[in-house]
Amino acid sequence: MNRICSSFASVVIISILSLFISSCKENPARYISVDDMKRVVRDLSDDSFMGRKPFTEGERLSVEYIAKELSDIGFEPAFGDSYYQEVPMIQITSKVNGSAKIIVKGEELILSAPDQIAVSSPSPEENIEIKNSKLVFCGFGIVAPEYGWDDFKGIDLKGKTVVVLINDPGLYSQEKSIFKGNEMTYYGRWTYKWEQAAKLGAEGILIIHDELGAGYGFNVPRNSSITSRLFIDNRDILKNSKLTGWLTAESATEIFSKMGYSLEDLRAISLKASFVPFETDAVISVNIDNHIEKNSSKNVAGILRGGKTPDEAVIITAHWDHFGVGEKQSGDSIYNGAVDNGTTMAWAFEIGRVISKQRSKPDRSVILLFPTAEEQGLTGSYYYVANPVIPIEKTIACLNNDMMVPRGKMRDITMIGYGYSTLDSLYEKFATDMDRYLLPDPSSHTGLFFRSDHFPFYKAGVPSIWAMGCFDSREHGKEWAEQSWDYFIKSVYHRPSDNYNQNWDWAGVVEDTELALRVVLWLTSSTNPRPKLLN
Ligand SMILES: [Zn+2]
Repeated sequence: MNRICSSFASVVIISILSLFISSCKENPARYISVDDMKRVVRDLSDDSFMGRKPFTEGERLSVEYIAKELSDIGFEPAFGDSYYQEVPMIQITSKVNGSAKIIVKGEELILSAPDQIAVSSPSPEENIEIKNSKLVFCGFGIVAPEYGWDDFKGIDLKGKTVVVLINDPGLYSQEKSIFKGNEMTYYGRWTYKWEQAAKLGAEGILIIHDELGAGYGFNVPRNSSITSRLFIDNRDILKNSKLTGWLTAESATEIFSKMGYSLEDLRAISLKASFVPFETDAVISVNIDNHIEKNSSKNVAGILRGGKTPDEAVIITAHWDHFGVGEKQSGDSIYNGAVDNGTTMAWAFEIGRVISKQRSKPDRSVILLFPTAEEQGLTGSYYYVANPVIPIEKTIACLNNDMMVPRGKMRDITMIGYGYSTLDSLYEKFATDMDRYLLPDPSSHTGLFFRSDHFPFYKAGVPSIWAMGCFDSREHGKEWAEQSWDYFIKSVYHRPSDNYNQNWDWAGVVEDTELALRVVLWLTSSTNPRPKLLN
């Protein structure tokens, strides 16, 4: 044997050996296919899907595509013999007749909708008449026994309209000991405030807008008050007051200054646990027409049944819906939602595909869920949680994602939901292996944790997380990453410009997929303990 031959032979032996070793180690991440991910996003954000809006032809195309993809990657139908779960919904579009009238200390004040007051009615009635409903100021509108807090002490709200401040006392006091300080708790979300007021029997609820506390401008509640909203039939309707909405800070100032209060005064008295709610010397009258449509949309899900404990499952979620065809911007009117939420659907499929390809089945089951109507208030995921495939007590964790922007590799893993469960330490372990670090959501005062599909799972007691690289680019650093994220939020997010881009750098999304894959594989092993909720 000559030298060339022998070195050739040793190369062959080494490569066979390394192939053998790597197949023994089975790093499943090497099966992640970027081409598959690109194809899924390109297809689902194509103009022919018309922006994937529930109740449209775009919905039919989207859910059929997802069902076929689930079947192709080896996931069985999750709902009996079907990949679809019908979600019965009511669509309500409200229109204020004329203006809202407020009488403060006998003086009439006219507020125009939706610019000075943004109100709608979630009641399934064609005409809603609110007449001289007493305004009651209830601080932040929070009942939180664990913080020793009750903004409604001893007050009767029947037939009255509650007026509250946005966010929670922690943000405005800037004291870490009050609620969670700067980080928003769920008590700070408008959804909580609306539910709480309804629970206590209020006829109406108005939130005073503030950009810092809300995390967005008045245009957001303004626009949503005049666009159609989806509610889960029977369930959501009972959870709301007849009148729901927001006041601009200027309108609130106009009303309360006539009674001797500035907004600063209202905030100052509301920052104390000893705050007592009070009836004002003001009433509101408003008349609203509702256009009501009953229809249903579909959640789509597939399941890979576990080999040992199939009645326990890890669930991976990525909403399929987006905004359809709408207001034209720079010549484009199709809201394709390539990043919101095409890239995340690709992430979910890829995790499923790789796990399904493994030689041995996972011990616990894996469910891939693509909820509908996330953009309308997490409607599909709330419905799934109330009607799950595997009981919620046996659903051991929910890994959700939303808006993964392919911008190359990231060092950080931004944890939206950091501190809520022991999933943190699990992510930490695998992140360190990949030379990455956990970053608690830097904008936690805007309550992002409460604004995507993992939240209904968390609310039902399932450890849940939304985790992705976002703010520390390996190639360009932190400042660049922050700026490019800001650019996405300001110029692309929820706009027709959210399109597929063939020049995207997928390396970071691939690493995020690998990380989630490792976490899921760990969680599906029945010898590993179930994660727990913290505090
Ligand atoms: Zn989204």
